[in-house]
Amino acid sequence: MNLKTVEKFLILRGHEKYRLRQIQNLIYKNFISDWNEANVLPKDLKEDLSKKINILSFVVKKTIKSKDLKAVKALFELKDKNYIETVLLETSTKNFSVCASTQVGCAVKCPFCATGKMGLKRNLSEEEITDQLLFWNQYIKKEKLDGKISGVVFMGMGEPFFNYDLTAQSVKKLISPDFFGLASRHISVSTFGYIPGIRKFAKDFPQVNLAISLHAVNNLLRNKLVPLNKDFPLEKLSKALGEYVETTHRKVFIEYVLMKGVNDSRKDAEKLVKWLRKTAAAKYFTINIIPYNETVKRFKASSPDQAKFFESQLQMLGIAATIRKSLGADIQGACGQLAGKKANKLKKSKKV
Ligand code: SF4
Repeated sequence: MNLKTVEKFLILRGHEKYRLRQIQNLIYKNFISDWNEANVLPKDLKEDLSKKINILSFVVKKTIKSKDLKAVKALFELKDKNYIETVLLETSTKNFSVCASTQVGCAVKCPFCATGKMGLKRNLSEEEITDQLLFWNQYIKKEKLDGKISGVVFMGMGEPFFNYDLTAQSVKKLISPDFFGLASRHISVSTFGYIPGIRKFAKDFPQVNLAISLHAVNNLLRNKLVPLNKDFPLEKLSKALGEYVETTHRKVFIEYVLMKGVNDSRKDAEKLVKWLRKTAAAKYFTINIIPYNETVKRFKASSPDQAKFFESQLQMLGIAATIRKSLGADIQGACGQLAGKKANKLKKSKKV
């Protein structure tokens, strides 16, 4: 929803100024998904808006629920016929979290990730990013789900810091009481380690969580898993994270996708802890161990026992670590599985 377009539309038609505020509230507080639901507006304005203004900047092509009903994935068709996906996750009773996308595809091209395989097509606009959250609020209302969205993670398609300005504008709307009014600390932005982005983010959003998709702490391996590591190697990333912690005094969330025989040994755990301790004090890190969702054949998930072992090694070495529950794997809605229409087949799951 582009409020500037609405404002121009209202001025052109000679409507009073207060109508804009009414419309903003209808969209961002009442989460109407059809202008016919805008009961406070006069009939002719509702009809006019229905003809001229779309509430969402994309067309919703499909929503699919996971078998356990804890995750729903949505596929959107953008105006230029590109596709993006986003996921709603039930993280705890009455609490939902949205995994949002910031780009169509991704330039980082991690070989284990479905989005990475697409390459980068384009950045999403601020409106396209923010509308993902708007859509899920409308969805919760329509489906009468019990609960509300309390968090957003920018971990969907794309590298948020390669689309910094528009992602930042979206984050501001998520936080603003005039729009979604979410707590800064309930929003997380994930990067592979784009250092200029980390530095800017520390200044612009010291209260918003930073997550780093790390996966390995030796350059040889990380160059393979996260190809842009070649341009922003681990030594530079370590320095940037040290500075981030010094400036913000905030914890950094380390995302670590665990892959069988690749990065899941005792030695890997030890090296990981050593690298973190060199970067900053252990209290500044929480490691989210993400069991690999098998999207690409050449990578396999570590066994649940190995994941537990890896977690216990990290904890023993004094670093907070948890195995992240994988929600939505059966609908290709879990971490690293979002890819847009063509790359993803959504066969077995229940369509709603
Ligand atoms: S894992 Fe993240 S950074 Fe890597 S290709 Fe996928 S979306 Fe991009």
